[in-house]
Amino acid sequence: MNPVPRPPHTEIETFGGVTVVRFLTELLFDSGTIQALGNELSRIADEPGRSNLVVDFSRVTRASSAVLGKFITLHRKVQLARGRLTFCCLPTQLLEFFQITKLDKVFSIAPRPPFETAAHVVGEFFGPQVRAVAFDPAWRTDTAVALARQMYDSREFGAMPILADALQDAGCEDEHLLMHCRDATQPHTRECWVCARVLGKA
Ligand SMILES: [Zn+2]
Repeated sequence: MNPVPRPPHTEIETFGGVTVVRFLTELLFDSGTIQALGNELSRIADEPGRSNLVVDFSRVTRASSAVLGKFITLHRKVQLARGRLTFCCLPTQLLEFFQITKLDKVFSIAPRPPFETAAHVVGEFFGPQVRAVAFDPAWRTDTAVALARQMYDSREFGAMPILADALQDAGCEDEHLLMHCRDATQPHTRECWVCARVLGKA
């Protein structure tokens, strides 16, 4: 007798060079589910070109701490492939597990809010991986650098549209970069790839 095929626990979506892995299962509790999930994550990370991952927990409500081991394995695989792994939309209970075990210092975890969707996280943390953006040093004018520095230091990013104007005045016509600054729905943090590039950090 053939075993009944089980539905997958994850779905994937690709944004340029970044793969978003979304969990479809609400409760990550029983050992069968956790084992199957671990296998699916490993399979995804082993595929070529999938070293930059965002793991989206928005549909997960509760999980057992037994699932943490699967994330440690995934983290190792991504590190070996010199990729980047970010978790987003974590339920409070799982976030607490990460904090208790200090794994929140090891993993990159996008705060919720403001990062309510995986697309926000891809936009903020992985910009240059999604689309090749060549950054011309001539765009680093005194005005642009002062704006980026002030936002980075104060953690207040309300001046992003003004930074876009400053970069455009300096000759930047990159739609992707300008959109990132002008899109009012895009949250920004110190991880902001545009600020990092203006400040010469990336
Ligand atoms: Zn940003």
